[in-house]
Amino acid sequence: MQTLDNAAAAGGRPPAQLLAVSKTQTVEAIRDLAGQGQLAFGENYVQEAMGKIVALRDLGLEWHLIGHLQSNKCKDAAMHFDWVQSVDREKLAHALDHARPASRDALNVLIQVNPDGQAGKSGCAPDQIQALARVVADSPRLRLRGLMAIPAPTPDLALRIETFRHMREWFDALRRTFPQVDTLSMGMSEDFELAAAEGATMVRIGSALFGPRG
Ligand SMILES: *Cc1c(COP(=O)(O)O)cnc(C)c1O
Repeated sequence: MQTLDNAAAAGGRPPAQLLAVSKTQTVEAIRDLAGQGQLAFGENYVQEAMGKIVALRDLGLEWHLIGHLQSNKCKDAAMHFDWVQSVDREKLAHALDHARPASRDALNVLIQVNPDGQAGKSGCAPDQIQALARVVADSPRLRLRGLMAIPAPTPDLALRIETFRHMREWFDALRRTFPQVDTLSMGMSEDFELAAAEGATMVRIGSALFGPRG
């Protein structure tokens, strides 16, 4: 994606990695995109994703869970996904660590942050990031990779930028404590260029890739 490359070049950083968000998309649509070289896909619902993951096993794709995770879905998530981007409480970290099969590599984990204090939204408070990261880093079957956020949608561009900048600051602080941290997942179809310019290392794009969801 040329635009991502430009945004990153302006900041002197490597381009952000593209995660194709395939919720509601068919196995055939995913297979098409994989045929064009896209190998990392994001899904919101464990149940919906499991069928696709099994059906597309031959392609060796990388699957990321980006939706809210309920405790009772941890076992399935730990068995089927390569990454979980929505870990926002200790209990989830413990459950995923416990359920990750020994036959698979450690599960890659992003801590989901609620960056703007939206009530009733997933994500830990910013002042809980370090403590939760410690729990993940100390879990043998998990691999701490970084942070994820879904900022509140707003037409206020300055506010969006401010939120992305806060995320970048928390990400940099986390990296100072945990040098293995390398992933900042933020930015969607509406604002991925902005997110990449503000230091996202991964952008999650659905409708801009697949067309609008039905
Ligand atoms: C649906 C979704 C996306 C992609 O949204 P688009 O606007 O279609 O690009 C990204 N991240 C999360 C967490 C989502 O739920």
